[in-house]
Amino acid sequence: GDFADEVTRGVEAIGSSISETFMEPVIRLGVTGLSRAGKTVFITSLVANLMERGRMPQLRAAAAGAIQAAYLQPQPDDTVPRFDYENHLQALTGANPHWPESTRAVSELRLSLRVRPAGLLGSVTGPRTVHLDIVDYPGEWLLDLSLLEKSYAEWSEETLARLDERPGSEAFRAKLSQTNPAAELEEPAVQALSAAFTGYLHAARAAGYSDCTPGRFLLPGDLAGSPVLTFAPLPKPGQTPRGSLWREMDRRYEAYQREVVKPFFREHFARIDRQVVLIDALGAIHAGPRAVADLRRAMTEILGAFRPGRNAWLTSLLTGRRVERILFAATKADHLHHSQHARLTAIMQALMRDARRRADFAGADTAAMAIAALRATVEETRTHEGEPLDCVRGTLLETGRQAALYPGELPEDPAVLLEDVQQNAERWLEADYNIMHFAPARLTLRPGEGPPHIRLDKAAEFLFGDRLR
Ligand code: GDP
Repeated sequence: GDFADEVTRGVEAIGSSISETFMEPVIRLGVTGLSRAGKTVFITSLVANLMERGRMPQLRAAAAGAIQAAYLQPQPDDTVPRFDYENHLQALTGANPHWPESTRAVSELRLSLRVRPAGLLGSVTGPRTVHLDIVDYPGEWLLDLSLLEKSYAEWSEETLARLDERPGSEAFRAKLSQTNPAAELEEPAVQALSAAFTGYLHAARAAGYSDCTPGRFLLPGDLAGSPVLTFAPLPKPGQTPRGSLWREMDRRYEAYQREVVKPFFREHFARIDRQVVLIDALGAIHAGPRAVADLRRAMTEILGAFRPGRNAWLTSLLTGRRVERILFAATKADHLHHSQHARLTAIMQALMRDARRRADFAGADTAAMAIAALRATVEETRTHEGEPLDCVRGTLLETGRQAALYPGELPEDPAVLLEDVQQNAERWLEADYNIMHFAPARLTLRPGEGPPHIRLDKAAEFLFGDRLR
């Protein structure tokens, strides 16, 4: 009967967790970041470098020769799409190198490492296998956690209140002005309203705004066109009769919470042990003070999602579990000569301290650093008006030509980026940064050589190096 089945399932679950804990440990590594932050490139290069182990001196287990083998295996979750590693690697390292397709939804990849523990223990027990389950998911989905704390009426009010200050909302506002929330629902009208709202979210995101909920409107996957993604914020009318537009929007919003947001947190988020959050900090700094201010808000929100006890429903899912380490990594550091890397690191650390303070975050170990998962440039110092100028050289995407460019300067004191946005707030990375669209460099990799990167090994050491010793 049901009870016996349940007992069997319980025993099986205990059995598998025992074997995972004592025999073959599993590290679930979450990789997130907003769209275009660099998740796909990060995972591809990390896995390739771990499989080759040739360029990972700062990953102590790799440097010590303790990793005897690294190989891909079928992942444990049968219904999650597999991260398309082989095709992405082919894109980056093939004869005609190009950037791979970006993350659109959650995906997973299992890399298994055969590790010989250091010292006496290693000679007694022999090598053991550690599974690294990499879970790639859009940062936009993480920001949806805040929706669980809001009713449809509250979310609508907040969303409508910031329409004016953001670009691209005209078409949606026009539709809204022709909409009576108390009138009877008509599906084609709802679809047009929702499409205009989605268009606005895309425009706000493109203009550098991070908080553009509901996140699934931006990356719908196979839910595109379904009722859970066909709603929009509305002002609450005095009366909300049965069958009215407002009632149905309220119902769909709740369905979105229940059928989209909660399953993601339950099935993916709640099971993560270690997390890396990738951030296109250079892009935000180049875009200007408003984008930096918005990035700060997004980092606070993201860290808040990991704060124990923030959300009662999430807390009940996480009983006894929590993310142990969180890394905030500024990606694409290969746009800068190394003479500016210390500044980028200092900026990331200041942003992270600020986010920790604002999110009132304690618990997990956090770190911030500057990396490039795939180095597309080489450094070159040129003379400009009699002065040396630290440039980077690479192949331009548009023309296929080589160019040595100077991105401009980062502030020496990160505090200037944390000042409130003012009329005259200073701008940075104003030289060639806006034309720095490099293609991946053509590579000739020898066996035992992973793709070139900047500090990917240091990121790996922080994220899971301790579990390989
Ligand atoms: P995702 O949306 O987070 O999966 O982002 P991707 O990994 O697809 O990266 C988005 C884009 O950022 C790529 O197409 C590249 O143009 C750029 N990019 C990502 N990582 C690097 C890097 O390490 N170096 C450079 N130069 N560009 C990068």
